[in-house]
Formats: sequence, structure tokens, C-alpha cells
Amino acid sequence: MKGRILVHGGAGSWEEGKIREGEVIPALATAVEAALAALKGGSAVDAVVEAVASIEGSGEFNAGRGALPNLDGVIELDAGLMDGESLRAGGVAAVRSVPHPIRLARIVMDKTENVLVVGVGAERLAGAFGISGELHPDATRREEIEKKRREYLEAPDHRWVRELGPSLTGTREGDTVGAIAMDDEGRFAAATSTGGLSFKIPGRVGDSPVVGHGFYAMRGAGAASTSGVGEAIAMYGLSLRAVGLMAEGIEAPAAASESISGLTRLFGPDTAGIILLDGHGLPGISFNTRGMAIGYGGTGMETGARIVRKKNQEEFSDLLRGKIRQK
Ligand code: ASP
Repeated sequence: MKGRILVHGGAGSWEEGKIREGEVIPALATAVEAALAALKGGSAVDAVVEAVASIEGSGEFNAGRGALPNLDGVIELDAGLMDGESLRAGGVAAVRSVPHPIRLARIVMDKTENVLVVGVGAERLAGAFGISGELHPDATRREEIEKKRREYLEAPDHRWVRELGPSLTGTREGDTVGAIAMDDEGRFAAATSTGGLSFKIPGRVGDSPVVGHGFYAMRGAGAASTSGVGEAIAMYGLSLRAVGLMAEGIEAPAAASESISGLTRLFGPDTAGIILLDGHGLPGISFNTRGMAIGYGGTGMETGARIVRKKNQEEFSDLLRGKIRQK
């Protein structure tokens, strides 16, 4: 088997002309390189952690340093990962002082007997392992963000209780990040990291740090990472369902489109995207939003990154499969 990696920078609107393509694409490409470096001598888990940590540190996505604030104007992060070989998972949620929550999720997976640790307890764990650090909302857009936050908070009828958060045009909405990998020994891993929905209720947690929802990996079957409206993804159990299909022998492209179609039927369009690698290391991508940012690479294979538009998603999946098969 030869190692391969897929990363995503979220399923969302990715509106042409408004997105920061010049920053986003290189950040994804750098994450792919970080994963490939980790795969040399490392495991699939090392690869997904290094890819996600690289994007968290870029400040270009709604994860880590670039995350959007919650209703109180504070950054609150969620992340999780799974080792498909040991079937161990780890996640952290609502952490405020951890620049790389994916590294903390790995500590939960490797060093504790737990699967999910949240809030102050998770922050204490980060302190014990020396990975705490301050996080501040993007200074270059402070005024715009603050204005939107106040309008939302002060809107009549406690709008913030009922709604998922206002749209911040051209910003980091919808750009949760994730990575899935297969290493040279055919082991799988999956990871996801997010700042969650913009102006979320403090303490709100979506799908991203929860095993089976925001990510899943299983030996022989493959790996999954998701993005979108966390509430819909969680209620559908998206990652577990998709990996479950692959465990039954369905190839990644069909498992991706079948699971996203199922979710769309129940929860509507503009709700989710998923990246998959199946048991043979073949990729599958599907989303019901306007776009999804994707990066890809593998041992001895060309690497790349792009914003894939809804109408081009099948064409892109075919292209990617072709690149992988040619290796
Ligand atoms: N799934 C993330 C959440 O609900 C958000 C996203 O993917 O954009 O927290």
C-alpha cells in the first residue's frame, strides 16, 4: 500500500470573488506537504494530526488561530480524531486557550481512557501537557465581526437562541478543516477541527469533535471527515454511516454521494460535505453546499489543492481517482 492524504477546508458557500483563494489554496497545499512528511516513517494518525495542526496554525480557516468567535466574542474550539487501527478516538470541545486543539485531542486519545473532554477540564489537560496559548479573534476584521455580533445579540426575540448564527460574507464561515489518511501499511486515521458556527451560543458543540459525527476511521473500511451544519451532521451520524457503507464493500465515491444524499433528504441542502478514503485507499468527495475546499497528495503522487464547486464535484472526484490509480 502507498500512503495517501486528503484534507478539506470546509463545505460552505465559497463564493467566487469573496474567498481568499490566494491564501486558502497554499494553506491547504502546505497541510498536504506536512502530512506527507509525517507519513515518511510515521503513521496515518501522525499524518492527519500534522495536516490539521498546519491548517490550525495558518489563521486562514475557521479553526485554531483563524477561528470565528462565539456569541460573547470569544474563540471556542472543537477538534477530534480517530485511529482506525486501534479504534481509539479522542476529542476536545469548547476550549478557549488551546491554539492546536487537534494536538489536545490526540492527548485525550493517547494518554487518557476518555473519548471526549470539554471546557475547563480540557484546558487543564492542555496546561499539563504544555500546549496552552492565547487566542484572539482576527484583528484585521475586528470591527466588522464586532458589529455583526452586537446586531445579532441585540436583535429582537432572542434571535441568537433560535438561529444557527448570521452569515459573515467572505469570511471563514463553513471552513472547518479536516484530514484523512492511509499510511504505507494500510492503516487509516481521520481528524477534524473547527471554531464552530459563528456567534454560536457559548458551550455549543457541533459534530466536529464527536466520533462518528465529524470523523471516523476503521481498519479495512476507511476514513471520513465532515464539515457543515454540525446539528444536521450529528443527527444523521454522517461519518459513521459513510464508513459503515464502506465496511460493507461500497467504494468511497458511492459511499460519499449516498450518505450526503441521505442527509440532504432528511435535513435539506446546504448542510454538509464529506471526504472519504475507502479500504483500498480510493477517495470519495460529496457535498450539498456551493463548494468545498480540498487538498490531496500521496507517496509518489502529484499533490494539489482547490476549491471544488458543486457542479464540478463528480468531475473532480473522477480526476482524483485517476491520479491515485495511475500511481
Ligand atoms: N461542522 C462545524 C460545526 O457545526 C462547522 C463547519 O463545518 O463549518 O461546528
